Amino acid sequence: MTDEAINEALQLLRVSMPQERVIFDRDILETYARDETPDISGIPDILVFPVSTREVSEIAKICSRLCIPLIPRGKGTGVTGGALALEGGMLLSFEKMNKILEIDRENLVAVVEPGAITRDIDEAAKQYGLMYPPDPSSLDSCSIGGNVAVGAGGPHAVKYGTTRDYVIGLECVCADGDIINLGGKYVKNATGYGLIPLLVGSEGTLALITKITLRLIPRPACAIDMLIPFSDIGRALESVEKITVSKIIPAAIEFMEEDALHLVAEFLGAKMPFPAARAHLLVELDGHNDEEVLRQAQNIVTLLKIDENNILIAQTDHEKERVWRARRSIREAIAHKSPIFLAEDTVVPRASVQKFILALKKEFTARNLYSIMFGHAGDGNVHVDVLKGDITRDAWRAMLPDLKAAIYRTAVSCGGTISGEHGIGFLKKAHLPIAMDEHTLQLMRRIKQAFDPQGILNPGKVV
Ligand SMILES: Cc1cc2nc3c(=O)[nH]c(=O)nc-3n(C[C@H](O)[C@H](O)[C@H](O)COP(=O)(O)OP(=O)(O)OC[C@H]3O[C@@H](n4cnc5c(N)ncnc54)[C@H](O)[C@@H]3O)c2cc1C
Repeated sequence: MTDEAINEALQLLRVSMPQERVIFDRDILETYARDETPDISGIPDILVFPVSTREVSEIAKICSRLCIPLIPRGKGTGVTGGALALEGGMLLSFEKMNKILEIDRENLVAVVEPGAITRDIDEAAKQYGLMYPPDPSSLDSCSIGGNVAVGAGGPHAVKYGTTRDYVIGLECVCADGDIINLGGKYVKNATGYGLIPLLVGSEGTLALITKITLRLIPRPACAIDMLIPFSDIGRALESVEKITVSKIIPAAIEFMEEDALHLVAEFLGAKMPFPAARAHLLVELDGHNDEEVLRQAQNIVTLLKIDENNILIAQTDHEKERVWRARRSIREAIAHKSPIFLAEDTVVPRASVQKFILALKKEFTARNLYSIMFGHAGDGNVHVDVLKGDITRDAWRAMLPDLKAAIYRTAVSCGGTISGEHGIGFLKKAHLPIAMDEHTLQLMRRIKQAFDPQGILNPGKVV
């Protein structure tokens, strides 16, 4: 932004909202120059913290009038550079719009502001025996607005689906400041075009989400976790296929290769069970009573022909938290080992996970790269992380486009696509043509044009 545009924007903002929530101090702006995407940053020219939909609307009107970029931001845990002001402009943080407005027990819905933390929504639902199932591993720190904007998922997707499956109402502010209301507290809706599914996953490029109505479900009374060690990756992945085909539907099936847990052990300074295993599956089973859940566990032991004395079963909240903490810490442990790394969330049909992972392992070995695979094997969304390690920054940057393209092409050739839950953001934009034909891309650009004719909302992202 030019100095003139910044001054004009600041003057207009002065009329619309209190000055303490309009920031242009360089030191503070710098703290908002990053999200959790390694090796990429962008400093905004102005940072605003609205507390109401009216204020969001006023901010959008100002940006539209001055034709300046407006970038929405939740909690900045995104991993595709989506919440970064890469071209400068005004960064709108939803941090202060973080209330859980209502848990409606009669209609089984929650109404929340976009800055509410995902875990807090599930905890609020729990008070009433209800559950908000989508559980990105970042659930303690990410916002529901960010989850809706990218269509986030988590381990529970295998049984319960992703954020997309729970959004039944949205209040949004359009690029010109108009406020729109879509859906409501009803679970069926055949009224006109499905704009809610379109806005879920639009990554802040079509509208600013200011209020969300979420479907809740009755909370299963019992859940246990099984940590199962395997002597090789292939056997672990074969077991996922066996469980899927057997029609047992666990609440989660997470895969972790050997080094994932070794890095976590080092990072957390804790001992991990089964240190000699080459791969692990973490299987969560839930149901109405202990008997039902333990029967499912026994069925899995029989199906996979595993030694029941050589698995860990976590039944208490403390035991469960220990195994899940390890799983949720893998990304941080990788970042600790190698602050620069490639983290891909490609997704393939469930039955192709083994073929996909083994093909990539071969590719990385041939390129002499250190990779770690882990994540949501039960829904085909295994994470593929490649660590920069000792490779020089220049060599790393030079190899990235080709490496990413190789990963994406392998996913597409296995019948999958390039993002299962993180979105496209800035990082994958150039590679979108690997997953979509030109007609589809043109249609997406026309949708963007219809919502945001000036192109001010989160420019440079998605399409
Ligand atoms: C350790 C770790 C583990 C993770 N695990 C998972 C996982 O299991 N599953 C998963 O899906 N993701 C995961 N992520 C990625 C990340 O947490 C999710 O993408 C999350 O949804 C981002 O939420 P946020 O509030 O941080 O959004 P931000 O990063 O602030 O923003 C993300 C995108 O949403 C847009 N946006 C934010 N709020 C709004 C709004 N109110 N209106 C319009 N647009 C908006 C932004 O412009 C940006 O494009 C993980 C990240 C980390 C660091």
